[in-house]
Amino acid sequence: MKLSVLIFVATVIFSTFLTAQNQSLIHLRYEENYTPTYDEVIEMFKLLDKNYDNAILLEKGKTDNGKPLHLFVINSEPVFNPAQIREQRKTVLLINNGIHPGEPEGIDASLWFSDDILRNKNGMAEILQNTVIIIIPVYNIGGHLNRGLYNRSGQTTPYETGFRGNAKNYDLNRDFIKSDSQNALSFYQIFNEWNPDVFLDTHTTNGSDHQYSITLIPPSPARFPKVQQDYIQNEFVPALFRNMKKGEYELIPYVDYIYDDPRKGMSLFQGSPRYSNEFATMFHCIGMVTENQIYKAFPDRVKSCYQFINVLASYTAENSASIKEKRAQAIRESMTIKDFPVAYRLDTTTFRLIEFKGYEAVKNQISPVTGLERFGYDTSKPYTDMVKYFDSWIPTETVKVPEYYILPQGYKEIIERFDLLGVRYSTLEKDTIIRVTVDYIDDVESMQRPSNGHYYHTKVTTHSEQQNMSYFKGDFIIPVRQEKIKYILETLEPKAEDSFFRWNFFDNILDQREYFSSYGFEENALKYLNEHPSFKAEFEKKRKEDPELAKNHRAQLAYIYNNTEWLEKTWKRYPVGKIF
Ligand SMILES: [Zn+2]
Repeated sequence: MKLSVLIFVATVIFSTFLTAQNQSLIHLRYEENYTPTYDEVIEMFKLLDKNYDNAILLEKGKTDNGKPLHLFVINSEPVFNPAQIREQRKTVLLINNGIHPGEPEGIDASLWFSDDILRNKNGMAEILQNTVIIIIPVYNIGGHLNRGLYNRSGQTTPYETGFRGNAKNYDLNRDFIKSDSQNALSFYQIFNEWNPDVFLDTHTTNGSDHQYSITLIPPSPARFPKVQQDYIQNEFVPALFRNMKKGEYELIPYVDYIYDDPRKGMSLFQGSPRYSNEFATMFHCIGMVTENQIYKAFPDRVKSCYQFINVLASYTAENSASIKEKRAQAIRESMTIKDFPVAYRLDTTTFRLIEFKGYEAVKNQISPVTGLERFGYDTSKPYTDMVKYFDSWIPTETVKVPEYYILPQGYKEIIERFDLLGVRYSTLEKDTIIRVTVDYIDDVESMQRPSNGHYYHTKVTTHSEQQNMSYFKGDFIIPVRQEKIKYILETLEPKAEDSFFRWNFFDNILDQREYFSSYGFEENALKYLNEHPSFKAEFEKKRKEDPELAKNHRAQLAYIYNNTEWLEKTWKRYPVGKIF
């Protein structure tokens, strides 16, 4: 066939594909306040897989209740190999649903959207020309199967939903760094294999009442390198709000109070990498969360979530080239940073005014349950007002970025995570003494009760020392300046908000192993004083100045132990060496 004929035939086939509109294959019952069960969800995705060559339902690892994590892939052609898709320069949009199964709008909306885009409703299939959409139908499968009428105390519809905790009672949306759950480890594989450019996690919120069915936690610009910061702040996020406004359901930023009433001001919610959207951000992926409003009727919640997915997918497709280009530039920018932020605060001095459609807050309503006064909103009194929106976070503390970390091989659970996420490293070929910078943990405060299976360290202060450390054949050398630099720094810098240190991966260094006995240390302490006259003089001076010390035998031995070479070097020494 001649080339021109070939192009003509291809064009006809292509345009036929784009204009055809098939019948819907699935039946959703959100109008009846019903969200599908786990089996129904998977059956519907299987049906779509069976009927369309350009979609496939994959199994990607296990979850904590033994069932596989599914991934539904929609492309323009029957190509489902992520490496091949990356070579074609297609954008990848990942949508995660049912992490909190009591918040199921995204499950319904994703099924509905998949059915529509595959049957090319209103020409929607055009999105797929440069964007591949990958969907996790239900992330927390254990929780979704734990279905009941009484799982959501603040919610009236849908009538039955799943439960927040997973099969091991973890809140999976706090698990993206420590990854105690098999769900998180399977998610790592998907994330690394597909390397999404844009990420959405769907939720429902029970915050204040207002007129919107859907709210958005947008990506926080402060978390991104300058090039992506500008793009997100000036183009990406404003376009989502603008395009939502053209449809039936308007979008408002997630209502995070800065004072007790949204009318006095709202702020941008910035989480930390334990949350899915912030986890995505560490890989320069534009991560965000929809929070449907719990007090709205379920059909409106599903429809507004559908509208958002459509707006996001369309925008991603239309701007595919610039999203990819900015991301590539941002990665290059990150790889050259000298300082890395480990703490942030909301800037309460800068804000902009945004339109907010709320309901009047009422303080003295009488509760029909208790007969007592209660706080509430009067939905018969809507208002539209301009409110202050504080959306700028600023770093308050940074650490110097090293060139390499050296991780002793005993910490293999960390390397397992690095392997799943494609972090590059090499191993030492022989036992070596290396002069490195090490951090000592000076002070640590921890949660008094476990949170998601851990006594997370709420406060960490450190100081650095230069030491000759012994490392052994097989220990891991991690070059910092690689594509995954942000993830490496967020997890290995002990002071970072969700570091492995904070999540108890290194608690073994926090207690002393040798120490001393009041009787047993006597002889060595005396010998040390005799052999070190200047220290002995210092010790005697201290005894004279401090009467409490002077009359306490054990305290004096402790002074000698803690201020000489006897003090064990490994105590509170964070064992990951840094080379600058
Ligand atoms: Zn949630």
